[in-house]
Formats: sequence, structure tokens, C-alpha cells
Amino acid sequence: MSPPAVHVALMEGRSYAVHFEPLATAPMHLRDVGLDGPRALVVTDETVGPLHLDALADALRADGRTVEATAVPAGEASKSIDQLAALHDWALGLGIDRTTPLLALGGGVVGDLAGFAAATLLRGIPLVHLPTTTISQVDSAIGGKTGINHAAGKNLVGAFHQPRVVLADPATLDTLDDRAFRSGLAEAVKHALISDPELADRLDREWDALVARAPAVLPPLLRDAAAVKARVVEADEREAGERAFLNFGHTFAHALEKEAGYGTLTHGEAVALGMRAALHLSESLRLGRVADALDRFAEADRLVSRLAPPVPDLDVDALMAATATDKKRTAAGVRYVVLDAVGQPRLAADVNEAMLRAAWRYALRG
Ligand code: NAD
Repeated sequence: MSPPAVHVALMEGRSYAVHFEPLATAPMHLRDVGLDGPRALVVTDETVGPLHLDALADALRADGRTVEATAVPAGEASKSIDQLAALHDWALGLGIDRTTPLLALGGGVVGDLAGFAAATLLRGIPLVHLPTTTISQVDSAIGGKTGINHAAGKNLVGAFHQPRVVLADPATLDTLDDRAFRSGLAEAVKHALISDPELADRLDREWDALVARAPAVLPPLLRDAAAVKARVVEADEREAGERAFLNFGHTFAHALEKEAGYGTLTHGEAVALGMRAALHLSESLRLGRVADALDRFAEADRLVSRLAPPVPDLDVDALMAATATDKKRTAAGVRYVVLDAVGQPRLAADVNEAMLRAAWRYALRG
């Protein structure tokens, strides 16, 4: 049985649902939000297309719709101005109108790219996310951030464009390799740590069944992790305040990704190590001195450590320098998301160098 949908309520009375159900239910969910026109555009990638497009397209055709599909190359490089332009050419060449929905079938790359195409075509056509990775099901398909990368940095060109509905089929995760599957779980763990102690307990208790992708355990946990993202987005649709807590572990993670060389660590692996550092920093701030043990965060540390990769051989000085240039820094300097307790995040400005060094050493000691 599928878990109940997550509802995302936005400003001005807008809202959308995130369903954890089979792809074959897409026609019904499109209809429920008024997307009952005769055609559907689908953007996927060259890995996901051969695996999951048929299930979706067959259901849409059985519902009497024409399906036009295109696939971009798999991988981060597709979040580019060239791929965006190619999607514009493709969609406009098909003679779409403002009611034609664009369905993004794939991971965060397809969601961000196709989402930005939907935001910009005819000044905005309806977007439907059909996320197929752990990270996209619990995170990137929710919240309306779309975009591409630029030579000056990741995700620097984009727009907010909320989906009309999200349909996350947990069964699509069966074809995901173990590294990608676990990498996305880092964001689920992060969601639990910043806002849901009960979910953190469940993740800890049900860990083995979760990583075995047990059908009775995985969908409800994905659903509850997605619900955290939904609540944060609701509270802070345009990322001015509370949404910053989603960066827990990420200031450290960005430095790790940079210093290890982009692509060496997955984003989730870097986030897992980054959360170890952030937990250590949280403890140091609480004690008012450099912490040497994490007793109070033992369960949290156990959770993130399960996702951490073999520790890369990196220089703490280089990591310290890389954190100082994080793009999320403000005029006041880098502000770290720390926890006063599981479920109680805050932004800390009172971080000193000794605490930071100790946090890095802790995260890197394995
Ligand atoms: P991805 O889309 O590149 O997917 C990872 C790999 O898995 C790709 O090679 C893809 O082809 C493959 N894949 C996807 N689904 C599969 C399946 N079911 N079976 C087999 N293979 C499958 O990346 P991702 O890890 O899903 O997401 C990372 C991207 O998401 C980054 O670009 C990041 O910036 C973005 N992101 C966006 C937000 C947001 O709020 N918009 C939030 C977090 C991350």
C-alpha cells in the first residue's frame, strides 16, 4: 500500500501534492490537477529513458494522450545552456501552448533542467516532476528550484517554478546503483536531523531494511523525509530564512567536494562527512570549548557515519580556506547550521577557528 501523499501549501493559496505511487497512476494525478489536455511532453535522460519511460508513456497513451519524449545525456553536464536551448527548440518546434504539461522523468539533473525549461517556455508551462532517484524523491522535486550550471558556479542560472504535482514511484529506485541510492539517503537523514527526531529514530532502527530497499519500509521513510522538505518550503518559499537549515552539513560538503576534486565524492557522501563535522561543531558550541566526544549526538553520528565514504586524504588547511569562500556566506561571514538538539537547528555566527579545525579533524578521522 502506498503511503499518504505529502501536501505542499504555498503562498497565495497555491498547493501541490507529492504522491509515492506507481508511474502508471500519472494520468489520474494529471487529471486531478486539471492537466487533462490531449498531449504530454516528457523529458528524461538516456539512462532513465530505457528503464522507465515505457511504463509512463504506456499509461499516458492508454489515457488517450499523445506523448512526445526526448532524452538528454545522463549526468550533471546536461544542466547547461546548450541543453536548455535544445529543449526550447524541441518544445517550440512541437507547437506547444501554455496548457501543455512538461513531465520531468529522472533524477535531480532532469528535474532542474526540464523544470527551468518549463519555467521559461511561453513564460511558464505546467511542470510535473516524476523523480527517480532517492535525492530527487526526498528533496529536489519539492520546492520549485529549477536551473542550470554556469562557468561561474553550480545552479547560478535558474528560476523558481513550482510543479503542479509530483509523482515519486519508489519502485523506480530499484534500478538505481547502490552508491546513488545511499547518496540520496544522506539528504533524508539530514531532513530528520534538522526537524524530526522521531524520523531520525526510525531511520536508525530500520536502517538495514531501508538500505535493502524493503518495499514495506522504504516508501514511508521517503515520504516522511519528503514531508520535512515540504514543511520547510512552506515556511520559507523563497529561501530567505528557515530554508537555510537545509544547508546543514553543506558548507563543509561544498569544501570537501571542491578539495577532493568534483566527481570524486558523490554529493551525498560529501554531505554525510559534512554532517559529521557539523555535529562536532554543534557539540563544541554547546560546551563552549572544543568537543572531544559526541555523546549527546551519538545516534545522529551513527546515522551519518553509515553513509560516510572511506575518508579521503585531505588537508585541513585547504578545507578551512575552501569553507571561507563558500557561496552561501553573508557579509557577516560563513554562518554554520548547527543543532542545539536533533530537530532544533540554528545558524551560528560564533564559531572560532579551533572549533572548525576540530570539526574537520573529527569528520576526517574515519
Ligand atoms: P542525476 O539526475 O544526475 O541522477 C544520478 C544518476 O542516476 C544519473 O546518471 C541518472 O541517469 C541515473 N538515474 C536516475 N534515476 C535512475 C534510476 N531510477 N535507475 C537507474 N539510474 C538512474 O542526479 P541526482 O543525484 O538525482 O540529483 C543531483 C542533482 O540535483 C544536482 O544537479 C543537484 O544540483 C540537484 N539538486 C537540486 C535540488 C533542488 O532543490 N532543485 C536539490 C538538491 C539537488
